[in-house]
Amino acid sequence: MDAQLPSVPRNGSEWAQAFRQADKVEEFAITTLTGDNLRIHPGLYVSITPDGSRRYDASLHDAEQYAQVVATAVHAKYGKEEFHENIAADVLTKDLVPTIGPKELIRLTHETYQFADRISRKVPIVAFSPCQLSLPVIDDKTYYVRTTLAVKWASQPYTLTIASYMNHDVCSDQCKLDNEFDVNKEPIMRFCERCEIWFHTQCLSVSPATSPTLLDIKATRPDQPADDADADRLFASGEINFSGHDFEAWTTLLYLPIQRGHVDYPWLLSFELLLLAVRAHDRAWGCPSDVQEFVTKHLSMAPSLTHLTDKYCTIVLASKPSVFYWCPQCGGDI
Ligand SMILES: [Zn+2]
Ligand SMILES: [Zn+2]
Repeated sequence: MDAQLPSVPRNGSEWAQAFRQADKVEEFAITTLTGDNLRIHPGLYVSITPDGSRRYDASLHDAEQYAQVVATAVHAKYGKEEFHENIAADVLTKDLVPTIGPKELIRLTHETYQFADRISRKVPIVAFSPCQLSLPVIDDKTYYVRTTLAVKWASQPYTLTIASYMNHDVCSDQCKLDNEFDVNKEPIMRFCERCEIWFHTQCLSVSPATSPTLLDIKATRPDQPADDADADRLFASGEINFSGHDFEAWTTLLYLPIQRGHVDYPWLLSFELLLLAVRAHDRAWGCPSDVQEFVTKHLSMAPSLTHLTDKYCTIVLASKPSVFYWCPQCGGDI
């Protein structure tokens, strides 16, 4: 990092000054966040109006996400490694820093990124809540931020404090991980749809169940076939509009646990939004006429990864039967 860059610009004028100085730097590489060797050209990727005034399209969701990554990369401050030198002494920050994942960034609450008014390169990043069904399908190169956490400026100069902006607790009273979302200690979590809580799998006991507890179906839902052969028979006679093949794929999806993290893929791969849609559709309507089309429509790929939709459709449709656990809250199978 160029020594001329102030570490922590605090207002519009300082940001203007910082970027004016940064423009003199041809290029620099940030490797600390992931080892991916992110190459940043400050003059190319981020610019601000000379007086440091606020850009007016900052509320555009995508622009904000990408801009804050660029701002983060320029500072090289808010990935996991960057916290060790500059960590504030408060208890919450000390507790949260070890939970930062290898691909995780902590967003800024400071309006820093809102000064960026030109972005030439997009860095994929998604935001999700650790306590809700909210994570899109990502790949191993996608960065993420938790919506519940942000960096705020500490009163001491050059220290970083993480603030929590809403309840971010996960798991149960018997949690072994202090009710923190922590991919370093437990990369796989299960969700109970009845309790609307994510649990660490290491805090759960295995249940003998072979399918999850589903919410009650609506009284108006059409009767469903008994099995694939029954579906084929009813399909042939025109009584239903989906085949045995579709019904089999649908049943597989319906009986998958809602899980975040995956044993075969070492990153936060989750089909949670798709499975939420599958269960809701099944309660109201049962099997759709074209399961492949339903999956494509509801897969919820990260915006930067829509070109990989087919690949991840295949992965989720090839999912194997799973181990289930008891929900410590309601006793359901999750
Ligand atoms: Zn736990
Ligand atoms: Zn439950």
